[in-house]
Parts: sequence; C-alpha cells; structure tokens
Amino acid sequence: MVEDYPYNGRLSRWDEVVDGLAIVAVQALAEPFPFAPGQYATLGLVGESGKLIQRPMSISSPADDLSEYEFFIRHVHGGEFTPLLWQIRVGDPINIKGAKGKFVLQDDGRTCLFIASGTGLAPFMSMLETLIDRRERRDIHLLHGVSHDSDLAWRDRLTEIAQADLLPLAYAGTVSRPQACPNWDGLTGRVESVFEAELDRRGLTADNCTIYLCGNPDMISAVEEVATERGFPPEQVRKELYWPKGRSHGPPND
Ligand SMILES: Cc1cc2nc3c(=O)[nH]c(=O)nc-3n(C[C@H](O)[C@H](O)[C@H](O)COP(=O)(O)OP(=O)(O)OC[C@H]3O[C@@H](n4cnc5c(N)ncnc54)[C@H](O)[C@@H]3O)c2cc1C
Repeated sequence: MVEDYPYNGRLSRWDEVVDGLAIVAVQALAEPFPFAPGQYATLGLVGESGKLIQRPMSISSPADDLSEYEFFIRHVHGGEFTPLLWQIRVGDPINIKGAKGKFVLQDDGRTCLFIASGTGLAPFMSMLETLIDRRERRDIHLLHGVSHDSDLAWRDRLTEIAQADLLPLAYAGTVSRPQACPNWDGLTGRVESVFEAELDRRGLTADNCTIYLCGNPDMISAVEEVATERGFPPEQVRKELYWPKGRSHGPPND
C-alpha cells in the first residue's frame, strides 16, 4: 500500500524525546512550500483500508529553512494516524501538504506570553527560531506544561536562548506529576493553574501583553476564562486547539 500511493515526502529524522513523544522531520520531495511560523502542515499515511489518513501538525522548524519540516508529535494510542506514523522508519515515504493556519505572531508591539501544553510547544519553537534567524527581538515569556520533566522537549535549547540572550526570553517548564520527577525543582502543577501567579510575578497585563495558547483544549479554555476576567480582549488571546474540547484520549497531554 505504501509503495502504491504517490507520496510526495520522506521521513528524514526521528528523535524520540521519551517513549511515545518524538521530534520528527519530513523532506518535501517536490518544490518545498513556504510557511509563516506558527502554521501547520498536513501529514498523511495510507492506512490498512487503503485510505489516506491525514492530520494537521504544527511545524516546529524555522520558516527560512525549507530543507525539511520538523514536528513534535505524541503517539495517541488507539488513534488513526499516529500509530501508522510510529510504524514507519527514516527514509520511508509520507505525504506532506502545507501550509495553513492563522496562529501566527501578531505585529502589535506587545510582550508575548506563550503557553503550551505538551506538543503545543511546536509552533512556538518555529516562532522563536525564526525570530533568532531574522535577528528580530520580541519580549517573550514561555510557559510549557507537561506531565514529567522528561517531556520538556527543547529544554536545553530554550535555556540556551534565554541565557545567551539570543532573544529576550523568560522560559519556565511546569510539571503536573512532580512526585514522579525526583530531580525536578521548578514549577509544579498544570500550566493553567500556575499561569495566573506567573502573570502577576512577571507584570503581564492586558495593557502590555498578548497571550498565545496552544495544545490541550481544556488548558486553553481555563486560561481564556481567567484572561477574560482580567480584561484581555479576544484579539489578545490567540489560540490553537489540537483536538475538540472534551475529546481527550488516553493520558492527558498536559
Ligand atoms: C492545527 C492543529 C495542529 C496540530 N499540531 C499537532 C502537533 O504539533 N503535534 C501533535 O502531536 N498533534 C498535533 N495536532 C493533533 C493531531 O492533528 C492529531 O489529532 C493527533 O496526532 C492524533 O491523531 P490520531 O489520528 O492518532 O488520533 P485520532 O484518531 O485523530 O484521535 C483519537 C482521539 O484522541 C484525541 N486526541 C488527539 N490528540 C490528542 C492528544 N495529543 N492527547 C490526547 N488526546 C488526543 C482526539 O480528540 C480523538 O478523540 C494538531 C491538531 C491541529 C488541529
């Protein structure tokens, strides 16, 4: 089945962050497509029924390097697409179509507060790396909520960006299962429960900040509710929901 379908890309990289969570890259075999940081591509693989199964995936790589498109993907057990993805190997064919989406940086001069749960970090990595490549400086605060500290992908790179002042970035991870993370001494709790204290600690208000939310829909609606109470207008709360609210599958992507 894989051979018969006219695939237009190949899997070029596979780095398993932890079991079931991978940073992967796909090369376009034909003319690469341009994208804006924050947009997504659609990946496709033919399933057992012979049908092409396609899913949107945020691009995590910088927009000025089209040699390959990078993604940060969770294996959803019982899902349709990701179990197929976990069966293929580097060099195998895959379909890629792009790019779409309105979850992009606003040119509003405000400080950005990026809040990601799990794989929702992907579009923010593209935004950060593209800003660095283009030598553009924006004040950015990034909160990444995960279950275990081992899920904090790009932790070293984000720490480096902040410490070397490649961007004015304040980065913090928060883990929701600290009892299983003996070496973790950072923030604890789900990102939606720590973000309000972080707003106050960092002096972020509706006057000076735009909030960008990506990942778990329950996280997004919880943050949105507080942001609205604090006077953030809808255009200052940008969001990318990875699946429909109330339809989480398996362990929460937190
Ligand atoms: C714009 C956009 C960008 C996206 N970017 C990414 C990305 O960068 N990385 C990524 O891993 N996913 C991303 N997703 C989610 C992705 O498109 C798929 O929904 C996901 O990979 C599951 O696909 P599946 O076919 O294996 O499972 P499906 O058969 O589609 O889903 C099975 C069930 O799992 C739920 N579900 C889907 N994803 C999760 C999850 N992570 N945790 C818990 N429950 C889930 C679904 O609502 C559904 O009920 C994005 C979605 C959108 C809309």
